[in-house]
Amino acid sequence: MNPYVMTLLLVGAWGVFGWQMYRRIRLMRLGPSENRFDQIGERLKRTWEYAFAQKRMRRYWWAGIAHSFIFTGFVVLLLRSLILFGRGYAEDFAFWGLFAHGTVLGDGYSFIKDVFIVLVIVATCVFIYYRVIKKLGRMTLSFEGLLILMIIESMMFGDLLYDGAARAKSEAGFSWAEPAGSVVGVILQGTDGTTLNVLAHIGFWVHVSLVLLFLNLLPISKHFHIITAIPNVFAQSLAPRGCLPNVEDIEGKIEREETLGTARIDQLSWKGVLDLYTCTECGRCTDQCPASNTGKLLSPKQLTLDLRDYLYDNEKKLVGANHDGQAVAQEGADEGHTPISVADDLVPQFIKPEVLWACTTCGACETECPVFITYVDKIVDMRRNLVMEKSEFPAELQNAFRGMETNSNPWSFPASDRAGWTKGLDVPLMSEKPDAEVLFWVGCSASFDDRARKIARATASLLKAANVDFAILGEEEQCTGDPARRAGNEFLFQMLAQMNVETLNNYEPKTIVTTCPHCFNTLLNEYPDFGGKFNVVHHSSFLSKLVREGRLTPKNQISAKVAYHDSCYLGRYNDIYDPPRETLKSIPGLTVLEPQQTRDRGMCCGAGGAQMFKEEEEGDDRVNLVRTDQLLETQPDMVASSCPFCQRMLIDGLSAKNREDVSQMDVAELLWKSIEPETSDGESTAG
Ligand code: SF4
Ligand code: SF4
Repeated sequence: MNPYVMTLLLVGAWGVFGWQMYRRIRLMRLGPSENRFDQIGERLKRTWEYAFAQKRMRRYWWAGIAHSFIFTGFVVLLLRSLILFGRGYAEDFAFWGLFAHGTVLGDGYSFIKDVFIVLVIVATCVFIYYRVIKKLGRMTLSFEGLLILMIIESMMFGDLLYDGAARAKSEAGFSWAEPAGSVVGVILQGTDGTTLNVLAHIGFWVHVSLVLLFLNLLPISKHFHIITAIPNVFAQSLAPRGCLPNVEDIEGKIEREETLGTARIDQLSWKGVLDLYTCTECGRCTDQCPASNTGKLLSPKQLTLDLRDYLYDNEKKLVGANHDGQAVAQEGADEGHTPISVADDLVPQFIKPEVLWACTTCGACETECPVFITYVDKIVDMRRNLVMEKSEFPAELQNAFRGMETNSNPWSFPASDRAGWTKGLDVPLMSEKPDAEVLFWVGCSASFDDRARKIARATASLLKAANVDFAILGEEEQCTGDPARRAGNEFLFQMLAQMNVETLNNYEPKTIVTTCPHCFNTLLNEYPDFGGKFNVVHHSSFLSKLVREGRLTPKNQISAKVAYHDSCYLGRYNDIYDPPRETLKSIPGLTVLEPQQTRDRGMCCGAGGAQMFKEEEEGDDRVNLVRTDQLLETQPDMVASSCPFCQRMLIDGLSAKNREDVSQMDVAELLWKSIEPETSDGESTAG
């Protein structure tokens, strides 16, 4: 076409793009390093599944399909753009004949390219519909988003015009090798040669210049995810989902006066910054967030965007800072924004503490995010800084911390009463029976809370009925530290973890069964970092296995409709959805109902992330009340769960709604009710 113009465009566009990328990478290098290049095989597998096959996008049918068209279209059209760059120098450039018309490769590629051009046009129309007509609340309706969609459409039409005009000029008719271009060619037939020449030039330069413009818009727009999404999926954490990143050598850090947790933006690792770059602003995270949905200040999407904007706005100061985070170049103070020294902490100047304390760590946001952005690690790390460095946290948590420290349970019940729930059940202690097959880890809630103790009694009764050789730790058991860790008190968590691991390693249990999903998650996923690798089974899985094996046979009829509530730490974090349902379904007369928000879309009860031990942040509604409403929509006779925390939140919810006619039971309690022999006074032997 015109080599001079093409050279000018290519050098200019790629030069600016290179500079933009340099700036973005420079920001990624500010924070601590992190190794995300281990287990390459697993990473490549997940990259294929989630980036190329777009597995998570399938959760959203139309948007998912439309997105797949655009993504694949971009991959296919990359080659086309390269060919067109070449045609700036030689009109018939086709990679030295490889992709020339009439060759198998050339015609095959032209066909695929034309199909995807049409699909991309359709897909962009779908997104314009969602943004402009349907106005999906979760999406940000920005000029930038629409502009990008228009650029993509124009590129596609430019390409068709270029092909169509060229075909009309050479009087070629319809060809399956170029179906869309042929249609345009047929429409243009009869147009004079000069006009066709002009149209071909317009199509060509529109495509080429818009590709290069688009390239340069990427690093400064939300469409940066086109470049960063694949690396972000590749670099996702491969640790078990329920495992929070460990803080190594806390005491050493204190001695060396290093920051604990995340205080400043430049303390995010490169992967943390890559997360910020990768947000597509789709809003799926906020759409599922129980805090956002009950009017709290926290919106995961907004948190990401705020951190990203803060990073960009303070770029000059950040890259001019020394390693201690002290600003050495104040001349870069941004215009139009509140000047913030690079040494300033994010909280409370930039992020309100209420935003962080509203998170229940339910993981709904991370389950939804198509590009594997994580929140819980960032939120907890910011909490760590508030708790361990500044002692700034909701006052009620102080009692829980003190209780865990002094009585090894967050309620400060006397540790000596930990086995009080066993009264009359004859449950052995591990100290008396160190070779027991199963160690029943009771957990603080089921050990001390009067209502939850019934779960422990039902579970112990079931284990006895199935002749399981088990014992409990009694006073030797201490809180796993889950609430301390999620509240940011990593120091306390690690202290408890080390003591528990020492006790457990002493007994070397073959299997640990626990009724609490939080204990389950911590014992299974987090204690390995402290030298404790155990076979941990949640009681819902253990009991369903006993039923399957015929060691427990539910026989007493329970005629009721029961709505099942999934615990986040059992379901979303550990993928345990079926065992509790199987157990319930094994009970004669029981009908299991599913609320609309169920399994990995089940709403949190509001207790996780240490919320159980503090007042809920201010909002329009309480999380447990909204969840109770969702369960009540199924019109159940009772509500069932497999977690003592969920049980407490749902009982409170039912009571607040004056629905005491709907009972709340743990899966173990229901199973025991269906198995226990009738007592003369009709009372349950499980209390
Ligand atoms: S973990 Fe749950 S509460 Fe926290 S931001 Fe994500 S969705 Fe919201
Ligand atoms: S964090 Fe993920 S789910 Fe949330 S808006 Fe960004 S891309 Fe969408």
